[in-house]
Amino acid sequence: MNLRGSRLSQEAGEIVKKLTSILGEKYVTASLPDLIAYSCDISPEPRVLPDVVVRPKTTEEVAEILKEANKTKKPVVPRGAGTCPAGFIKYQKNAIVVDMTRMDEIIDINEKEMTVTVECGVTWGKLYYELRKKGWRVGSYGPGSALSATVGGALSHHSLAYGCAKYGSVSENVTSLEVVLPTGAIINTGSGAYPHAKKAQRYGIGPDLTGLFLGEGGAFGIKTKATMMIHPFPEAVRFLCYEAENLKQLLDATYEVSKTRIPSDILGFNPWLNNALGEAGFKSLLGKDYTLHVVIEAPNDKVADAQAEYVDNAAKKTGVKEVGAEWLKFFYYPRFAEWWPRTSPKGKRWYAWCNKIPIYDYLRTHELIEELFNKYKDECEKYQLEPYDVMYFVVDWNTVDALLLVYAWDDVPGAREVVRKMWREGFERFVAEGGIHYWLGSAVGELVARNWASEYRETLRAIKKVLDPNGILIPGMLLLT
Ligand SMILES: Cc1cc2nc3c(=O)[nH]c(=O)nc-3n(C[C@H](O)[C@H](O)[C@H](O)COP(=O)(O)OP(=O)(O)OC[C@H]3O[C@@H](n4cnc5c(N)ncnc54)[C@H](O)[C@@H]3O)c2cc1C
Repeated sequence: MNLRGSRLSQEAGEIVKKLTSILGEKYVTASLPDLIAYSCDISPEPRVLPDVVVRPKTTEEVAEILKEANKTKKPVVPRGAGTCPAGFIKYQKNAIVVDMTRMDEIIDINEKEMTVTVECGVTWGKLYYELRKKGWRVGSYGPGSALSATVGGALSHHSLAYGCAKYGSVSENVTSLEVVLPTGAIINTGSGAYPHAKKAQRYGIGPDLTGLFLGEGGAFGIKTKATMMIHPFPEAVRFLCYEAENLKQLLDATYEVSKTRIPSDILGFNPWLNNALGEAGFKSLLGKDYTLHVVIEAPNDKVADAQAEYVDNAAKKTGVKEVGAEWLKFFYYPRFAEWWPRTSPKGKRWYAWCNKIPIYDYLRTHELIEELFNKYKDECEKYQLEPYDVMYFVVDWNTVDALLLVYAWDDVPGAREVVRKMWREGFERFVAEGGIHYWLGSAVGELVARNWASEYRETLRAIKKVLDPNGILIPGMLLLT
C-alpha cells in the first residue's frame, strides 16, 4: 500500500489496512500524488480528494470492498476512466474510490448466440477492435471517448455517439448485467436471473431490473459484467452530406432522413463547426452555415447503394444540396474522439453541455443557446472564454442531442468560476424547457432529481434504502440519500 504524503484519519487508516488485506498492497493507494490524480473528472467542478483508491480484479473483490465499507459506513464511489463531464467527483469526499479499469477482460464473444460478455472496466475502444477482428460489432459503438471510457462508466451515463441514430444509447446494447449491490450481494439481471439460463435476453423473466442499473450514475450498485448483443460488422458503408440554407431546412432534412430508419448516424452541424473543420482542411465545409452528415451501414454494396438512393431522395425533397463527404469519411471507422481533442489547437480546454430534445424542438434550443451566450458575452470576453453552439446528432430516430462547448484557459484567474456559472445555468434552462440529459455527475444529477415528480423521487428513494441501507454507495447521487 502506498501512503506517500497521506494525511489519513485513524479510522481511514484502519480501512486502508483491511482493504490491503483484501486486494494486496499493490492495488490500494492513499498516497497524495495518486489521490490528486483521481481528484478530478473533465467537468469544471473543483477537485475532491478521496481517502483511498482501490483497484479490484474480480467481482468477489468488489463485493468484499463493499462489505468492508458497510462496517464503518464509509462512502464508496466506483470509477471508470473518470471522463464524466458533469462532476461526479463531488461524491469522492472521504470515500473509497473503486477504480474498475483492471476488470477489463472480454470474457466471451459468443458468435452463435450473438452476444459479447465483458468486464465493466474494459474500454469501448478495446471492445470495438476485438469484435471487429471477428467480423462483429455492438450496435451503439460507445462514446467519442471510447479509447478511454469504460463500459461501466458509459452504461452509468446512457452514453451515446457512434451508431446511436439507429441503435440508441449504449444501454440499448445490454441484455444482462452482473451487479454488486451496495451490501456486497451479487445479482444478475435479464435472463441471467436464472442461474441456468443463457444471458442473451433482457426481457421475459418478470420485471426487468437491468434498467435500474443503467443511466443511474452508479447509485444502485457496481456493474461488474455486461452481456450485450452483437451484430455483423457492416461490409459496405455510404456517406451522404448536404448543405442547408437555414436551420429550419436542416431540421426538415434531418426529420425526413430519420424517418427512413436507415442511417446509423445523422449529424447536423452549425456554422462554427463547419468553418472550424473547413479551416482544418475539409474544404467542402468551409463557408457553409448548416450541413447534414449521414452514414449508412449495410451488409453489401447492393443493399448499401439501394439504401443510399432511398435516403438521398428523402433528403433532397427538402431542398438541401449535396456537398463533399471528406470529413464524414474521416470521422467514420470509428475514430472516436481523435477528431475532437480535449484541448483546442491553441491549448484551451473545453467544457460541454448535452441536451436531448425532439427534432423540431432544436429550434427553441438554438434560441436558448443564443440567449445564454448573449447573457455571458461580456464575461466571456473578459475571461477569454469561447462558447460555441456546435452540432447535434440524432438518437433513436426521433430525438436530437445538442452539443455545445465553452473553451477556456485553465490559468486565467476567475475563468473557471464563470464557466461553472454559465454551465450550470445552461443545464437549468434546458431542463426547464423539457431537455433530457444523460451524463449525471453532481451538476446534472441533482438538477434532474429536483425536477422529478415527488412520487417518482420517493419511489426511487425507497428502492435505494432497501438496496443501500447504510447509504454508502455514492451518497448524494441523484439526491437519493
Ligand atoms: C474527448 C471526449 C469525448 C466524449 N464524447 C462523448 C460522447 O460522444 N458521448 C457521451 O455520452 N459522452 C462523451 N464523453 C463523456 C464521457 O467520456 C462518457 O460519458 C463516458 O461514457 C464516461 O465513461 P467513464 O468510464 O469515463 O466513466 P466515469 O467518468 O469514470 O464514471 C461515470 C459515472 O459512472 C459511475 N461508474 C463508473 N463505472 C461504474 C461501474 N462499473 N458501475 C457503476 N457505476 C460506475 C461513476 O461513479 C460516475 O458516476 C466524452 C468525453 C471526452 C473527454
